[in-house]
Amino acid sequence: MKLVIATSNKGKLEEFKQMLSDTPLEILSLLDFPGIKIVENGNSFEENAVIKAVETAKKTGLPSLGDDSGLEVKFLGGKPGIFTARYAGENATSDDNIKKLLSELEGVPFEEREAQFVCFLCFALPNGKYYIEKGNLKGFITFEPVGKNGFGYDPVFYVPELGKTLAEADSETKNRISHRGRALEKIRRHILCELVY
Ligand code: IMP
Repeated sequence: MKLVIATSNKGKLEEFKQMLSDTPLEILSLLDFPGIKIVENGNSFEENAVIKAVETAKKTGLPSLGDDSGLEVKFLGGKPGIFTARYAGENATSDDNIKKLLSELEGVPFEEREAQFVCFLCFALPNGKYYIEKGNLKGFITFEPVGKNGFGYDPVFYVPELGKTLAEADSETKNRISHRGRALEKIRRHILCELVY
């Protein structure tokens, strides 16, 4: 049975493939459907996750899993929020986004750099039925990037329970505790009940 991950982000896709590798599902993504473009115009992570999954399921005729995730920094009043991917502009790279974030937090002491990653996952069927679940991970923004693993803001996200940044953690550890891993653990039974059992 096929499941289309409604993303073209290779970092996210790799994590989903690894986390679902113990299931019989064949994992596809929007990279396999280059003609399909999804306009992400919701006003919240939740709305965007539903748009991505429902539209992808409709356009591919296959079950789909949509992820909308991002970073909320307390000192910045919850920014970058739904603008996390394009914080430094439409075509910004992760390095550009990290630079902007660190400059906005210049002079802010470590204990005031609290942040959380949030992830909403929506599992949608081509008939329009869908399920939604949430996961989060709390941490602190570091003063400079540390570590080479992961993607996005991982090098500046320090996780107290690990004593290191997400970019220093191996993928198995990240997937076990991450916002995405936690949301997937909750939505997994719906995926398996609908597609496998
Ligand atoms: P989306 O693809 O529109 O959901 O944008 C999510 C953005 O949030 C990504 O482009 C990353 O910059 C960031 N992000 C989400 N999850 C993670 C993560 O696990 N590590 C680092 N950055 C993340």
